[in-house]
Amino acid sequence: MSTFKARGIIIKENLVGDNDKSLIILLKDYGKFTVWAKNCRNSKSKLLVGSSLFSYADFIIYDNGRTLTLNQIDIIENFYGLTEDLDSLAYGTYFLEFVDKNTQEATPINDVMLLLLKSLLILSKSTVISPKLIAKIFEIKFLQLNGYMPLINNCTYCNKPINDDIDVYWGNNGIICKGCKSYEQYLIKINNNTILVIKHILSSSIDKLYNFNVSDNVLNDLSLVSKKLLNAHLYTNLKSTSFIEQLENI
Ligand SMILES: [Zn+2]
Repeated sequence: MSTFKARGIIIKENLVGDNDKSLIILLKDYGKFTVWAKNCRNSKSKLLVGSSLFSYADFIIYDNGRTLTLNQIDIIENFYGLTEDLDSLAYGTYFLEFVDKNTQEATPINDVMLLLLKSLLILSKSTVISPKLIAKIFEIKFLQLNGYMPLINNCTYCNKPINDDIDVYWGNNGIICKGCKSYEQYLIKINNNTILVIKHILSSSIDKLYNFNVSDNVLNDLSLVSKKLLNAHLYTNLKSTSFIEQLENI
């Protein structure tokens, strides 16, 4: 039995009984854990503020050997800006669910946590870069952090470098040249500029990820590429995805 302090972000909450919550918190250096917040919905509780989704804080947690219980929350950032815009809130909720569904419990994943925090911060504060582009960059970087690196310099089949081709094809594992496009059935035709953007995303540090913008055509290409990669490698049947798709079709 012990009490420990850890920095983290609440990525899921379930209401339990009249006053409690069961929280899933992504903790720095520890990973993802379920933590009980007892009585936190009571208006007099010291846990009332901060025991909600998006709360990034220093948490003091009691471990009795079987379950973790929250004792104290010192808020660092609550991403309040997300609640002021429906699109940003929808994408922020999607990021939390995406991370929850695609990570293991009790495994330290500080790089994923940093990506999540940086993405939420840009989403809540930036007016320059669209939520949809933030989401595509987030998805492609998440895939890379989890070891799914697409082949983007040479053709997946013949290894030919793809430099000056205006149109490139994207298959299951990366780019494919014109001469090899008959090897796969479901290919996406994308612009060479999209390849440059993907290279930039893969080579950038998380701190410098969100420093560019793209045309609508490249954004559409990025969406198609990301969707293909996600379907091949990750869990994508998320509740928040259908809401985002509805928003994008309005
Ligand atoms: Zn080829």
